[in-house]
Amino acid sequence: MRQHGKLEYGGRAAPQRTCVGCRVQTVKSELLRLVLVGDHVVPDLRGQLPGRGASLHPDPSCLELAERRRAFPRAFRVPGPLDVSRVRAHLEEENHEMSCRTPS
Ligand SMILES: [Zn+2]
Repeated sequence: MRQHGKLEYGGRAAPQRTCVGCRVQTVKSELLRLVLVGDHVVPDLRGQLPGRGASLHPDPSCLELAERRRAFPRAFRVPGPLDVSRVRAHLEEENHEMSCRTPS
């Protein structure tokens, strides 16, 4: 298992959240906040959407883990099933940008 978010903040503890996929505690700023819109899980890119949030590493393998564990319905306290296609699309887009580095 990878270790995420071992960042120093002047020796003070930064706010931490647990990734719903791999369950590793990571500083909040390194995690993607997800919110529920209808029965769609969507990335809250600006951190401004209201409601209960779930935290996930911006990593497709964590998304896969979360799905396999049915972590999203549990995190949002709904029966499910939930549609995570928008989260997956977002993560794939990010990876694509990282590997290609094409200016937008
Ligand atoms: Zn994770």
